[in-house]
Amino acid sequence: TRPDRYAVFGHPIKHSQSPRIHALFAAQTGQDLVYAAEDVPPERFESRVREFFGSGGRGLNCTVPLKELAWRLADSRSDRAERAGAVNTLALRDDGSVFGDNTDGIGLLRDLRDNLGLDLAGAKVLVLGAGGATRGILAPLLAERPARLVIANRTIATAETLAAEFGDLGPVEGCGFADLAGHRFDLILNATAASLSGELPPLPADALAPGGSCYDLAYAFEPTPFVRWGREKQASVSTDGIGMLVEQAAEAFLLWRGVRPETRPVIETLEAERRTVK
Ligand code: NDP
Repeated sequence: TRPDRYAVFGHPIKHSQSPRIHALFAAQTGQDLVYAAEDVPPERFESRVREFFGSGGRGLNCTVPLKELAWRLADSRSDRAERAGAVNTLALRDDGSVFGDNTDGIGLLRDLRDNLGLDLAGAKVLVLGAGGATRGILAPLLAERPARLVIANRTIATAETLAAEFGDLGPVEGCGFADLAGHRFDLILNATAASLSGELPPLPADALAPGGSCYDLAYAFEPTPFVRWGREKQASVSTDGIGMLVEQAAEAFLLWRGVRPETRPVIETLEAERRTVK
């Protein structure tokens, strides 16, 4: 029999680490599967998904800018995907229908809590950016019961809309970067796309409380400007999103295969490869 087929669709997709991560999971768990990366622009997304599942494909990950389209395409969704309004994982059901899930939020939480040992309960948390990634992480973050959660965004109205949408889950405020002056946070999460263009979001110099931590959802071969900012400010932890990427992938793998891979050795392998490439 041929191996089961999976893929990640995105636009662009060239630098995706997902094929590597799923190959490591498959080897570790002895699962017979192949996982490819494919550049799919939004206008071809729906037809390409139908074609993929119609020709025997079993599951897909969807990344920028396809997560909202994937949400719309899914025939049914998990509660967490429903709430996020974004889907990063599609699975073909036995009856031929397409199920949508969002594993980004749980992926971030596992990395923050289990891998990095950060406790969010009672913490003052700042999320930079109000795009698709922020939508996926707000509910799981609020479930940890932070004392305060502020969303700061370049386009202030988007942050305010998100805060209103998730306000029933906990204390969440939306604002612009200038409004952060004089406020300090125990954890700052960068969920903007600024790192992808080598930029630092316009943060006040004293936004990080003493002993606080910084986490960039973006990942790159070099430390991002935001990870460097955190290190300059003596953050307890200042790291990028490679751990989140591996954790969200593990959750997708569990949905597809019914097996949870060990994430730690895979994170270590990817980090070792980065050190070698540098
Ligand atoms: P979106 O395009 O949906 O949102 C982008 C956000 O970034 C918007 O809030 C936008 O503000 C803001 N932004 C863009 N450029 C700048 C800039 N130069 N300065 C300040 N703000 C800026 O992207 P996503 O939410 O999907 O992704 C955000 C980041 O999260 C990406 O780096 C992505 O790689 C990462 N990510 C990582 C994951 C992981 O597993 N590690 C999973 C998911 C995402 P505005 O509204 O004003 O335009």
